[in-house]
Amino acid sequence: MAKDRHLPYVRNIGVMAHIDAGKTTVSERILYYSGKTHKVGEVHDGAATMDWMAQERERGITITSAATTTTWRDHEITLIDTPGHVDFTVEVERSLRVLDGAVALFCAVGGVQPQSEQVWHQSVKYSVPKLAFINKMDRISADFFGVIEKIQDTLGANAVPVVIPIGSEANFVGVIDLIQMRAVYYADEDMGQTFHEEEIPDDMLELAQQWRTSLVEECAEQDDQLLEKFLETGDLTEAEIRAIIRQATIDLRVVPVYCGSAFKNKGIQRLLDGIVDFLPSPADKMPIIHPEGDSDRPPTVDAPFSALAFKIVADKHMGKLTFMRVYSGKIDSGTTVYNSTQDNEQRIGRILRMHANRQEAIEAASCGDIVAVVGLTKTRTGDTLCSKDEPIVLESIEFPAPVMSISIKPATRIDRDKLSGGLHALAEEDPTFVVHFDEETEEMIISGMGELHLDIIVDRLKREFRITAEIGRPEVAYRETSTLATSGDYKHVKQTGGRGQYAHVYLRLEPVDPGEGFEYVNEIKGGNIPSEYIPAVEKGVIKAMESGPYAGYPVVDMRVTVYDGSHHEVDSSEFAFTEAGRVCFRDLFMKGQPELLEPIMSLEITSPEEYIGGVTGMIFQRRGRVEAMDQQGEVKVVRGFAPLSEMFGFAGDLRSATQGRGNFTMHFEHYEAVPFSIAEEIIKKRREQNKIR
Ligand code: GDP
Repeated sequence: MAKDRHLPYVRNIGVMAHIDAGKTTVSERILYYSGKTHKVGEVHDGAATMDWMAQERERGITITSAATTTTWRDHEITLIDTPGHVDFTVEVERSLRVLDGAVALFCAVGGVQPQSEQVWHQSVKYSVPKLAFINKMDRISADFFGVIEKIQDTLGANAVPVVIPIGSEANFVGVIDLIQMRAVYYADEDMGQTFHEEEIPDDMLELAQQWRTSLVEECAEQDDQLLEKFLETGDLTEAEIRAIIRQATIDLRVVPVYCGSAFKNKGIQRLLDGIVDFLPSPADKMPIIHPEGDSDRPPTVDAPFSALAFKIVADKHMGKLTFMRVYSGKIDSGTTVYNSTQDNEQRIGRILRMHANRQEAIEAASCGDIVAVVGLTKTRTGDTLCSKDEPIVLESIEFPAPVMSISIKPATRIDRDKLSGGLHALAEEDPTFVVHFDEETEEMIISGMGELHLDIIVDRLKREFRITAEIGRPEVAYRETSTLATSGDYKHVKQTGGRGQYAHVYLRLEPVDPGEGFEYVNEIKGGNIPSEYIPAVEKGVIKAMESGPYAGYPVVDMRVTVYDGSHHEVDSSEFAFTEAGRVCFRDLFMKGQPELLEPIMSLEITSPEEYIGGVTGMIFQRRGRVEAMDQQGEVKVVRGFAPLSEMFGFAGDLRSATQGRGNFTMHFEHYEAVPFSIAEEIIKKRREQNKIR
């Protein structure tokens, strides 16, 4: 159990923020101060320090690394990069899953901005314990207490300050630690590395006392025994306060609030203390229950090995790096692991811990660790790695269906080759998009989870892989199906000199329940169609389904039965039966009252109450429906559904309808039939574009 004793000293955290709140600066400072702990007290000349920072930035491994480990007060803190785009439900879910706690950043001037609301709600959904850090206290009109009020009102969080600022704007010099009741001042000259503590200045004593009292009262309210003691003595000890804040933070009842100025190097060390003191270690997490739910696995080093690959990065020097979080057990470098998602075995090469300024090769990774691994060539993002003897799947790999697609036409042959390489590399990092090559138009069709998702893929292809290509407009991924069962036959006969072609099939087409997909049934008895041609018929059917006869979209949810036919000793061939299957399917499908299906998205929109009428109106205008409406702090949350095709430009419209305060997330829910008149319009357009063959 040697390593388990170590577990309470591990913190896996992320920094969540609205863009521009200072995520980069705060992360850099965290790594800078903590990475240098062994040198505290040493005198640095400013130039050397800045050099170090500049070099780091040049090498780009500080915060661009998916997970960077550093040390603070004997604790190992790993900073996990969280995606900035809340639209990627899968990515956000995964990053919130591999971290145990988070620091939510707010700008002392901007306060709770729309985007920070959205990230906050996501973290609440996944029960992530948090600290808040109110940054930019040096800016004009910084308002620490105002932002706290907003966090309480708008986000409905129990935000409790554990420090308060000394001075404001240009005069912001440090913080008062309300637990220790000491004033902390940061030096200006050495990037704030040296700081000193003093008595609280007289002119701040009253304010400090007032906030200290409210902190202690909050602590007392969390626990009956403490409350009794507090009522008797009027105070609590430092140790009691720390212990109860830690517990309440982990139980999601309290969000301790810190403040500072990352840019002016103030307040970060106290935040690091907070991370160590109040955010959970992997040992505080509940046992992991895998999606099938039939076994729990405790987060201990003695349990069988399990880990989740959460990020793949192509490193210039080391090749493919797989970042994984170990949930249980231990793995040594050079050994073989079982990838339970893909059902194969792979060898773990070197195991690396990434630090801000170096990579450390380690012999083994164990429960709670976040490390990068070399050599897992076949592993993709989201895969589970575990011991072969006691396999487990940590994440259900049901990815949301890709609902939108975009076409990419490479400019040259070289671009085409680069494109396939680029797409392959991107697919390893992000398994949620699907690529399909359209032979007729020579275009790559990339399907993904939304407009923004596709935008980012295209942008990365251009920037990272330097591909020149013509990009089409994003399109909704429609499907088609038929609603009635039909049956009949088709005879493929050709006599063109030499050897002829002959194949004759009888098919029965039946719609099946939505989501059941495609099923092929063989009912041929007595060899009217020789068994070697049965797969050929299926091949023809699948070919017809790829580009449906109704509107040229993929056909889904059909059972196709081949139940009779005939063949010719000389003229029958695989090709002839494929052709017969294809044409027969097309004919019958059109007789079964086909319909067009469209992706329906579930929506979650948050908006201040005064705009809610306009918001629901927008949903109805878009053929949507409202399912529920709740109050969350000061805002209303509307849940409902709308067809994806109507959601283009929704973000902008919502912004103007709510003065920028409305937010929304949407994800794919299911496919539904498109109303007939709208389907007719779509088909007419498709015909004009020659998309129906
Ligand atoms: P990110 O977009 O959240 O990663 O934010 P950055 O760290 O890049 O910061 C955005 C801008 O705010 C940059 O110009 C920073 O220099 C600035 N900034 C960050 N922290 C502070 C701070 O504490 N005070 C002031 N005045 N500016 C800051």
